[in-house]
Amino acid sequence: MSGIPYDFYCRWRARGRERAGEEVSLHEEASPPERWMQQIWRHQRLRRMELCCLDGRRVRVLHPGFWNREPGPDFRDAVLQFGDGGLVTGDVEIDLQTAGWFGHGHAVNPAYARVVLQVVWEPGGRVVERAVLPMAPFLDCPLDDMAPWLEEEAAIRVPPTTPGRCCGPLRRQSPDRVISLLEQAARARLERKVDEFRSRGRTLGWGPVLWEGVFAALGYKHNVWSMRRLAELLPSAPSGNEVAAWESRLLGLAGLLPTELPRGPAGEFVRSRWDHWWRERTTWDQAVLPASVWRLAGLRPANHPQRRLALAARWLALGHWAERVEQFFLEDTGVRGRLARWVALLAPAGGAEAGSPDAFWLNHWTLRSRWRAGPLPWIGPSRATDLAVNAVLPWLLARATSGDLAGGDPGVRARLEQSWMEWPAGQDNADLRFARRRLWGGVPAGIRWTAARQQGLLQVRHDFCLAAGSLCSGCRFPVLVDALEQSEAGSCGTGP
Ligand code: SF4
Repeated sequence: MSGIPYDFYCRWRARGRERAGEEVSLHEEASPPERWMQQIWRHQRLRRMELCCLDGRRVRVLHPGFWNREPGPDFRDAVLQFGDGGLVTGDVEIDLQTAGWFGHGHAVNPAYARVVLQVVWEPGGRVVERAVLPMAPFLDCPLDDMAPWLEEEAAIRVPPTTPGRCCGPLRRQSPDRVISLLEQAARARLERKVDEFRSRGRTLGWGPVLWEGVFAALGYKHNVWSMRRLAELLPSAPSGNEVAAWESRLLGLAGLLPTELPRGPAGEFVRSRWDHWWRERTTWDQAVLPASVWRLAGLRPANHPQRRLALAARWLALGHWAERVEQFFLEDTGVRGRLARWVALLAPAGGAEAGSPDAFWLNHWTLRSRWRAGPLPWIGPSRATDLAVNAVLPWLLARATSGDLAGGDPGVRARLEQSWMEWPAGQDNADLRFARRRLWGGVPAGIRWTAARQQGLLQVRHDFCLAAGSLCSGCRFPVLVDALEQSEAGSCGTGP
């Protein structure tokens, strides 16, 4: 993304890739490594509405399955639809060519008996007796454009959380220098997010990619994919501004409307949603998500997808939610209190009178939970931060850098970047704890955390820790950090 200044961190990343011999020269005829194909499938970087098997059948991916790092098929429990048939649940195997099915021994291995789709880069060799999807013709952008992102995603291996070799060098750095490092890493991460929104936005349109990002953020952390799938269906939904209709449609499509009515007021509310959904259901019959795609165990009621979808329904019913959030970020100039104002903007206004659609949700977390004294909040600061940092601001920046927002005014871009950099820290999580433990053996002193610095920490983890393994094998980060110590800030890119 132009406009974001780089310094030493980006040079570190580029140099690390060169030294690791990972820079791949891609030609149109080249096949990518299988691990890249896994990431393309996992993140569905495909023109999903056009997917077509080698036998000519259309295939729709309602869920790509759960990535399997153990022996066996690459993805478990995918949910697919072939042609106009019913939904099929089964495993997905990724191979470079159809011949891999026999060459890798899958044909005689019972662990592969549930495979319903083989995804190949291109057809080749003996034909298998199952659905085969070629991946190359359906990428959502050219493979060359996707390559840097793929290199990062495919490098992921998870080491345990013992302190790493960079602990000593990092502890010797002043807090200011650590902050500078984290913020540069954060900019690299922001650039990656913006690139992704921009390349998808150009293909799918800015509105649909915003909703994809928003729904994915609402699905954090275990239901991201299922929520994204619902977002994909929005463009074909009838427009309208009735909250109850949107809410019924989203809950119905998600398969989250209980078929057995709960007792009491919840039962009356669910019945009212079924009254809407019955009328539309046959139109959407093939699109309804099966229960198996939702991960609900251990979820706090406030994070339940039913509640998140009820909130999204209110945003959709507004009809101009995207313009509203755009206006917020273009006009809100005060750092102080910005998160509170953002949370307030995201909370639907009013509507709590008896009989209104909101009356139920203000006293119930989910469609099955008991009455609580309310009003229960719609969204808290941590989810609102996630929405701003991972979806709305990168989306606005993608538009700004494409000239679609404020005529590409560099001042607007700078302001949006500044908002992203200044955003208050989000909720701590296992990934951040992992990174702190690896890099500092605990909590580093003297760092005031912001969301961007958290993102920078995640980027360091991504770029260095996840590829290096538990013994930090071959990781150059400690040497690079040591070089920082010895050089003046700003000339650090000349280190080893
Ligand atoms: S892999 Fe590298 S960055 Fe990660 S803890 Fe080890 S030395 Fe530090």
